[in-house]
Amino acid sequence: MTYVFPPGKLPGVPVHGSELLFPVHRIYCVGRNYADHAREMGGNPLREPPFFFTKPADAVVPVTGENPVLLTYPSRTSQLHHEIELVVAVGVGGNNINPEQAARHVFGFAVGLDLTRRDLQEQAKSARRPWDTSKGFDYSAPISQLHPVEEFGNSNRSLKSGRIWLDVNGQRRQDGNLDGMIWSVGEVLAELSTYFELLPGDLVFTGTPSGVGELKPGDHIKGGVDGLDTLELKIQ
Ligand code: MN
Repeated sequence: MTYVFPPGKLPGVPVHGSELLFPVHRIYCVGRNYADHAREMGGNPLREPPFFFTKPADAVVPVTGENPVLLTYPSRTSQLHHEIELVVAVGVGGNNINPEQAARHVFGFAVGLDLTRRDLQEQAKSARRPWDTSKGFDYSAPISQLHPVEEFGNSNRSLKSGRIWLDVNGQRRQDGNLDGMIWSVGEVLAELSTYFELLPGDLVFTGTPSGVGELKPGDHIKGGVDGLDTLELKIQ
């Protein structure tokens, strides 16, 4: 058997310290996982179960190397927002993962940007419609190279604290800490794996701290997580 036309290319994210690429299977995202961001979005900062949405795998834009990646301002929005996030890469799949065992499913970590057409998201929320066009658009998931868990020591295999930040044109917009996550990486993977079978290649965006805001053409974005990389992008 053969395909009617060549199948699409699987997006790959470079792995730090090697020549290898991590093949992206699916992209899951957690909504409102920092109390201060839940508050700024008009939501409940209490410990409600995490909720999830997705982006297509080919929304990934690997951001590596010395120079900022150029990103074209997306269509159909006049309110593009930045959300800097810790991204977890799944290396071992599973259903109904135990939160205490979740670390063994993690391949590594990266810095990601959950780009959002906020105006379309607000319209979708008020009309009770899906978020796909506001969250899952082309090039909406820029991501740094992946750092394998081995880099963080075998005993821990997780990032539990560390600064997470984002600057636009040299001005600090987001400045949080991973210890401000309402649901830990293990808890997020455990809950997500009750809805979907996690598979190697899945990426999980774990939510953003407060300070989300607008991006305009010409903006220069830098964002990072302590111990990982700095993402650098320019909007054109
Ligand atoms: Mn987000």
